[in-house]
Amino acid sequence: MHQPGKEQDLMRNWEQKSAVRRKAYAQFLRDADKNLILKQLPELHEEAFTRIDCLGCANCCKKYSPRFKTPDIKRIAKVLKMKEGDFIETYLKLDEEGDYVVKSTPCPFLGDNNHCGIYENRPSDCRRFPYTNEDILVKRKQLTLKNSEFCPIVYFVLEGLMKQGMNDLPQKDQ
Ligand code: SF4
Ligand code: SF4
Repeated sequence: MHQPGKEQDLMRNWEQKSAVRRKAYAQFLRDADKNLILKQLPELHEEAFTRIDCLGCANCCKKYSPRFKTPDIKRIAKVLKMKEGDFIETYLKLDEEGDYVVKSTPCPFLGDNNHCGIYENRPSDCRRFPYTNEDILVKRKQLTLKNSEFCPIVYFVLEGLMKQGMNDLPQKDQ
């Protein structure tokens, strides 16, 4: 059952706590039962998004860029009534992996009160972030660890998974 007091404690100074727990997260992601994690993710993901308000955070939009894949570029350029080439030239650059990302952060589409100016048409990466309901969470461990440093939802989900993992351990004989 949800316990508001305990949850407030969990989220208090979460950035410092997440930094301290980084090694524990790495070990957990390496050793945990992947199938069990995937079963537990949907509920924790839902709960995290109920408890944590992205509009009060926007760390991902402020500090990092999604990849703008070809369908994203086509869709967004059309909505902005721009030629795709002009859209790319105005907003994007290629990163070291050959993906288009925003030229500078915060994202140029981040508007007042942390609203996304292209929300309905935002890149697929933005829709999927922070991957807390996908197997990417366990498959791309380094990405998950990096995201845990700035995304409170990733922190919340990892803590939840680890807590449930503890509860799933066989009980010692009394
Ligand atoms: S960093 Fe995480 S909690 Fe913050 S806005 Fe992005 S997805 Fe939401
Ligand atoms: S496109 Fe919108 S959701 Fe995606 S990073 Fe930019 S402001 Fe955030």
